[in-house]
Amino acid sequence: MSMYNLDLDKVIRKITSMDAQTVGLQFPEGLKMQAIKIARQIEEETDATVVISGDPCFGACDVSDYKMKGSVDLIVHYGHTPLPLKYEVPTLFIEAYSNIDIKKDLEKSIEYLKDYYRIGLVTTTQHLHLLNETKDYLEDNGKEVVLGSSPSTRKGQVLGCNFSSIKNLDAEVILFIGTGNFHPLGIKLFSNTPVIALDPYNSEIRSMDEFADRILRIRFARITKARGAKKWGILVSTKEGQYRMTLAKEIKKILEDSKMEAYIILVDNVSPDVLLPYLELDAFVVSACPRIAIDDSQMYKKPLLTPQELEIVLNKRKWENYQLDEILFHEHYK
Ligand code: SF4
Repeated sequence: MSMYNLDLDKVIRKITSMDAQTVGLQFPEGLKMQAIKIARQIEEETDATVVISGDPCFGACDVSDYKMKGSVDLIVHYGHTPLPLKYEVPTLFIEAYSNIDIKKDLEKSIEYLKDYYRIGLVTTTQHLHLLNETKDYLEDNGKEVVLGSSPSTRKGQVLGCNFSSIKNLDAEVILFIGTGNFHPLGIKLFSNTPVIALDPYNSEIRSMDEFADRILRIRFARITKARGAKKWGILVSTKEGQYRMTLAKEIKKILEDSKMEAYIILVDNVSPDVLLPYLELDAFVVSACPRIAIDDSQMYKKPLLTPQELEIVLNKRKWENYQLDEILFHEHYK
């Protein structure tokens, strides 16, 4: 059985009610191993033909609607909540909630939270359904729990590039429920508040402070190295939710005003291979997913910076005011 609720009944009902002849399926990397099983069940239980998107997918910023337009009647996109973007093909979002029991982990978390009273609670799509239970548990144990909301996300939800729900959250500590370092690192860098991460898959609870410090040291080194750069590449992604061409043009102008060369490079996926031909360029600014520069930095020989990190290089921002890049999807500036 899958660790996630893939809501096949809902998918079948939607396909049948639309009489969809061809259905596109899109999964994040962690759910791709479910693709064939889901495709088989859909084809057995409906008349539809299934087309599986084989491209990497890291968020609802990257629904394969442009690629599948004209080929499918419906896209079923797993693992993310919809963003306020205009999707070109009818798209059914299946959150894929985890089937995990966190009672024991919550008991353990009290020890880590013993020095705090007001707790900010956040999670990702897969665990949104656990927020009420967690809130009740913490309140029963004498804590006050605060949950934030934003126009781009659900209550208590963060994305790797959007932390609006914790902006101005009046909390002494933030408790993150979910797996991996990706989201809790972003929360820590964004909020500068102590962050405790509870990973329900590994029953692990840890502070993010040390890890975030290590990442900040790497960012400092990259920024320092980029101070010597004279020729820059500015990366724009064609992915609908990551496409920030206006920002890229602003960055180009700022660099040129600072007597440097700057060239805009439009790509789908940013990867080390894609940048190999640009030997002349010294460094890159990423206007695509804000986490590429931060989380994939070790994969690149040349510095990749966020727009805010470039401001530090150009002495327009102080290191003490380091800020994570965000995509404010509800504004969806291009
Ligand atoms: S832009 Fe990056 S962090 Fe934001 S939703 Fe897309 S993949 Fe995730």
